[in-house]
Amino acid sequence: MAKLYFRYGAMGSGKTRDIMKVWYNYKEKEKVAVIIKPVKDKKGENKIVSRDNNELDTDYLISSEDNLYLLICKHITENNLDCVLIDEAQFLERHHVEELTEVVDKLGITVMCYGLRADFQDNLFPGSEALFIYADVLEELKTICKCGEGATRNVRFEKGIPVFSGEQVAIDGIEGVSYESMCRSCRKKLVKKYSMQNNKKEDA
Ligand SMILES: [Zn+2]
Repeated sequence: MAKLYFRYGAMGSGKTRDIMKVWYNYKEKEKVAVIIKPVKDKKGENKIVSRDNNELDTDYLISSEDNLYLLICKHITENNLDCVLIDEAQFLERHHVEELTEVVDKLGITVMCYGLRADFQDNLFPGSEALFIYADVLEELKTICKCGEGATRNVRFEKGIPVFSGEQVAIDGIEGVSYESMCRSCRKKLVKKYSMQNNKKEDA
């Protein structure tokens, strides 16, 4: 039975590495998986790149207007296909996820989406929200905070300073932006520390 999976985790939880592992598993069994990535993720361009610097070519970079069901229908007229792998799935639009349910239900092809659960302000990304609604299987990929607890939050830094407001999308490694995955409690402490510092500045 084909299923729609959403494997979610904070930054650094090994999502891209897991995609690579699944891709090689299919290949070893002489089956075919395609890799798709939303074009919003500018990092690595047409490749997916893991934190240990392995990379694989994507088969399709998709924009917000693309119809994923039609794309896969076209692909299978000329190619074998056993699995669709999607990196940075938080950047999908809701209609993309609805189209992926058609890939599973009408074409009988398994789709595995990998992405972040929430953004740096603790709001769901549109793609993640739709996947929490539609996915058959939800699986958390785990990583740890520096305190040793499980990290579920993503804290954004700009040139090393934590920021708690701004645009939802700012890509790791571009224009001084970086992220650290943290547990909920450590994120709260950091918010408190920086809001106190900012208040002091305003008082001065
Ligand atoms: Zn912590």
